[in-house]
Amino acid sequence: MTTHVFHRTPERPAIATRARGIEITDAEGKTYIDSSGGAAVSCIGHGDPRVVEAIAKQAATVEYAHTGAFTSEPAEALAERLCRSTTLPLDKVFIVGSGSEAVETAVKMARGYHLARGDEGRHRVIARRQSYHGNTLGALARGGHVARRTPFLPMMPEALLVDPCFAYRHALPGETPEAYGLRAADSLEAEILRLGPDTVSAFLAETVVGATTGAVPPVPGYFRRIREICDRYGILMISDEVMCGVNRCGPFFAIEEDGAAPDIVTLGKGMGGGYQPIAAAMCTAAVHDAYSDAGRSFVNGHTYMAHPVACAAALAVQDVIRDDGLAARVAPMGEKLRQRLESRFGNHPNVGDIRGRGLFQAIEIVADRDDKTPFAASDGMAGRIFDACRDLGLLVYPGSGTVDGIRGDHLLVAPPYNVTEAQIDTIVARLGDGVDAGLA
Ligand code: PMP
Repeated sequence: MTTHVFHRTPERPAIATRARGIEITDAEGKTYIDSSGGAAVSCIGHGDPRVVEAIAKQAATVEYAHTGAFTSEPAEALAERLCRSTTLPLDKVFIVGSGSEAVETAVKMARGYHLARGDEGRHRVIARRQSYHGNTLGALARGGHVARRTPFLPMMPEALLVDPCFAYRHALPGETPEAYGLRAADSLEAEILRLGPDTVSAFLAETVVGATTGAVPPVPGYFRRIREICDRYGILMISDEVMCGVNRCGPFFAIEEDGAAPDIVTLGKGMGGGYQPIAAAMCTAAVHDAYSDAGRSFVNGHTYMAHPVACAAALAVQDVIRDDGLAARVAPMGEKLRQRLESRFGNHPNVGDIRGRGLFQAIEIVADRDDKTPFAASDGMAGRIFDACRDLGLLVYPGSGTVDGIRGDHLLVAPPYNVTEAQIDTIVARLGDGVDAGLA
């Protein structure tokens, strides 16, 4: 069959024809367990009639009204809900259409904040080499996703990357994770001093790293130290929670557990649960008020920002999370998933690490478990295991990251929050068979 869809070859990917709960069926009638909700997008499962109804109702009421002239009831209600859902002191919400737009918005918001305060020189953003913040050129430049950056080098200038927080790969022999975490955080201070603090606007980091290295949580104490350093130099802290936020790790924002309150947080994927493209950047009143105090507006906008149907869908998804008590399921079900992964892969000769938080877990695939030697890029191991799992009727989210020259293959398991124990058993059993088949 010929195809005019750019990202498709004649064979792949399959055409999805039906999605319900944790399952997706293709045009040939084969059904898959969607164990990672795509890339940690699906948080309430597919096809929830409550969300479908909210979308239809909003489309019949106001399907689009330009934000230059109007806001909408679902946009107002959604922004209020998001601010009430987190324990962080975030007060304003800028709603956009994708995680990349949310990150670009956050970076502009930080720059504009300094400009509004008369601080013209703070044009730089520091991020980390172990990170992914999106695929638009600005967000790509601020991330360390080597494979996605390489075809477009040189990147946009003035995006500076400092040490990751990845104890599994980068702690020195005998170094405690806590000591490593503080050392990693202090590399930010060294970079700020090298550049000149009054040229730096913001530090940007994923709380739990997703796409590059696979569900890597921060070392305890790391983000508290980052917050101190940002405060010392008047730099805004931006937490990218597009993948790990919206209860994926348990709390509404993962960083709520780390004792550090960012100035700006981005969210996406789980915000709309896949029902509509939607994402946002949330900021504190202090960031927002810097603009109004200076009589300035935030110069930013996208045609589909705060789209009424997308906002209605996201609000309905947040209602489902609340009404079905799904946030409270994440920690116990995450623990069950972790136990099953530990018992299936804890002694596996090619699994070097099992890590994550809540329903955001990953296994890292290595050539040698004892010295954690990675497979070569040419082995394409994550892709091979993905293919083997798909043949067995399981969708996982594969990734291969390179940080400071050390590469790794990982598989992310991030099921919806209403996943059952029986489904977790099936996911881990199929993943076990898929890993062995992919390695064979
Ligand atoms: N930030 C993070 C942490 C992400 O994981 C992603 C997507 N994987 C993005 C930003 C970009 O989001 P989008 O693909 O919706 O543009």
